[in-house]
Order: sequence, then structure tokens, then C-alpha cells
Amino acid sequence: MRIDVLTLFPEMCEGVFGTSILGKAREKGIVSLNAVNFRDFSGNKHNTVDDTPYGGGGGMVLKPDPIFAAVEHVLAESTGSTVVSSEYSTEGHMDQEGTKPRIILMCPQGKTYTQQIAEELAQEEHLIFICGHYEGYDERIREHLVTDELSIGDYVLTGGELPAMTVIDSIVRLQPGALGNETSAVSDSFSTGLLEYPHYTRPAEFRGWKVPDILLSGHHANIETWRREQALQRTLERRPDLLETAELTAKDRKTLERLKNDGQA
Ligand code: SAM
Repeated sequence: MRIDVLTLFPEMCEGVFGTSILGKAREKGIVSLNAVNFRDFSGNKHNTVDDTPYGGGGGMVLKPDPIFAAVEHVLAESTGSTVVSSEYSTEGHMDQEGTKPRIILMCPQGKTYTQQIAEELAQEEHLIFICGHYEGYDERIREHLVTDELSIGDYVLTGGELPAMTVIDSIVRLQPGALGNETSAVSDSFSTGLLEYPHYTRPAEFRGWKVPDILLSGHHANIETWRREQALQRTLERRPDLLETAELTAKDRKTLERLKNDGQA
């Protein structure tokens, strides 16, 4: 998998790319992570990438030309081609091999990011993220260049770097071989449609607080049943909305009924 991040602050990305799971995935060659400074594509001697908004008002707006040029450069580079397509439309982000990379604009107005979107993006071979700064982007970037717009939540940050790093981290950890233990992403919160069950480790008793006996029993089937029930209970208490779409067995539904009745008692 290849991921390119178009940013004015590549140093913000490099720290994340070199650390922990992402750093190891990069070292193992599971993913190629590149921060591209789109100021290098300004095309003017003052390296200007933003300008005042037409129609007046405060704030600076990112110009379309440096961002289009940086995307075109990345597309050409990813295929080893020297031919750079000069025109893109929302239908036609083809690279030279005919694959279509997703070009993702980070913005608070985008679709709210979820684990489901992470799983979908994790299947792609090439992703390009565009990080904004200042007031926003020239609307033609949104209309004619990008394939997706993603928000990490209903709040406004200074720039798109932290949101892009959040999304990239969640995608890279889903790549086969990125996590030491292949099963650990499978049971993560949201992957199963539920919040994850609680974890405990040594010591078996800490300041008088004991680990549940079942976890020390060595009885794997009973432990699985307990974990599933804990996941259901946790989701019921904290995120009941998730239960509307989670895949539930008949046994899960019975357990939920019992948990609800116990809660009312
Ligand atoms: N004026 C814009 C608006 O009201 O929608 C906000 C611009 S914000 C100060 C600057 C940049 O930060 C955005 O272009 C985007 O790249 C990034 N950003 C801020 N909040 C974000 C969020 N919740 N999700 C994704 N990106 C965000």
C-alpha cells in the first residue's frame, strides 16, 4: 500500500510515520508513507499557496494550482511515468496503470470517519490525503479533484495533518502483518460492531481489586462467552446506538434482553 500526504507541514507527519506500529509497518515494507509539501508546487517565486477570498471576508484560501500540481506529481511518480495528466475530473483519477487512487480531502464538512470507512480504505492500493490549513480550500479542489471528503468529528482543528494521521494510523494497523498479533485488530471496538470487552493483566490482585475469576479459570469457551457478554453490556451502557447495526446472534439477543431486565430490576 502507498499513502501520500499533501501538507504544508511534512515534519508533523514524519514523526508519526516513523513511530510505533506505523514505523514498523514502513520498515517491513507493508506500507510506503510519504509526506509531500505542496508549497514545492506553488509555481511562483514567492512560493505562495494561498490567497484572499474572492468576494471579501477574513482568512486565506488555499489556491487550486499547487494542490492539483502536487497530486499530478504523486500520480506520475507512483507509476514511474514522466507523463503527467494535466486534467482531472471527479470521475477520472486514473493513474498510468489504470488503477484509481482515492484522493481524500480532510475537512470538517466531510463524511464522519468510522471504523467501517477504515476497513474500506484499508483495501486500497494507493491513497492520497490533502491537508488544509487557514480558512479552507478553493471549491474547485473539492469539485474537480477529490474522490472523498472526511471529517474526524464535529470540531474544528487548525489543519488537516492530525486528522489525516488519525485516519492513516487506523488504516495501517489493519494491513496484514502490521500488528504483531493478527487477532488483535479483529476484536477491537467497532470491528465487531460492538465495543470491546474489558482487559486485565498481572497482578491477579492489585490494591484489593481482583481480576474476574473466569479469566484465571483456563476454560477458553467460558472465557469467550464472558467476553461476548461484557462486550454486549458495555455497548448497551455506553453506545446503545451501535446495537441497531451490530451483527447479533439469537444468543446475543437473549443476553441483551437479560441485561436490560437486570438493569431495570
Ligand atoms: N473554515 C473551515 C470550515 O469552517 O469548514 C475550517 C478550516 S480548518 C481551520 C483548516 C483545515 O483543518 C481544514 O481545511 C481541514 O483540512 C482541517 N480540519 C479541521 N477540522 C477538521 C476535522 N474535524 N476533520 C478533518 N479535517 C479538519
